[in-house]
Amino acid sequence: MEPIIGQVHSIETFGTVDGPGIRYIVFLKGCPFRCLYCHNPDTWRNAGATAMSVNEIVEDFLRYKKFYDNGGVTISGGEPLMQSRFVEELLESFRALKVHTVIDTAGSVPITESKKCLELASLVLLDIKAPNEEMYRRITSQSMKDTLDTLDYCEKIGKSVWIRHVVVPGLTDSDESINGICDIVAGRKCVERVELLPFHKLGEFKWRELGLDYKLYDTPAPTNLRMAELRAIIDKRCKRL
Ligand code: SF4
Repeated sequence: MEPIIGQVHSIETFGTVDGPGIRYIVFLKGCPFRCLYCHNPDTWRNAGATAMSVNEIVEDFLRYKKFYDNGGVTISGGEPLMQSRFVEELLESFRALKVHTVIDTAGSVPITESKKCLELASLVLLDIKAPNEEMYRRITSQSMKDTLDTLDYCEKIGKSVWIRHVVVPGLTDSDESINGICDIVAGRKCVERVELLPFHKLGEFKWRELGLDYKLYDTPAPTNLRMAELRAIIDKRCKRL
């Protein structure tokens, strides 16, 4: 049988923020969302991808394996679950090697396509972009249904989830917005952690280079004080997280 080929954006060998410990991160191409604040718009389409087989990635990982004893492999993007068959095979290969695996996803594909990947991963980082459908569509241009289905399925199978949420001044930085995220998370035993990530402008130049219409040139990063205030809401509402 022909090996499945992945469309890879890049590989980072020393990731420290996308899952526990030091991680080997595979960034895959493709994403159906168009988040206003995306810092990797160059991952949206497959153009410029490096075609790699599962074996090529595993062999590359094994060259550095000793660095990841307390970490593992994170599969990110773009939206990695858009290449779900390839991700399944990657996760199966790393599971056979007893390597801890993370999927870093916005849950932006139907659960029928992604469920096997969710079952195979050790941990799911699930980016929830907004607390309600209207804001979701404004930020991503898509519905939040698949993201909520992803969270529901993780709850159903008892998969560990870390929720992530980007705080953007003027978009998602209100008390109401963070309370809405808490409402979504409330009562779900699968959620181990809620991380608030400050909006930043490091990807702004990519929008310009790609000729895309970036709407947040005038939006500042949130202040440390505002991040602490919003964190306090999470700490109060979701005590164990
Ligand atoms: S889901 Fe991630 S990669 Fe896709 S547009 Fe949003 S921020 Fe960018």
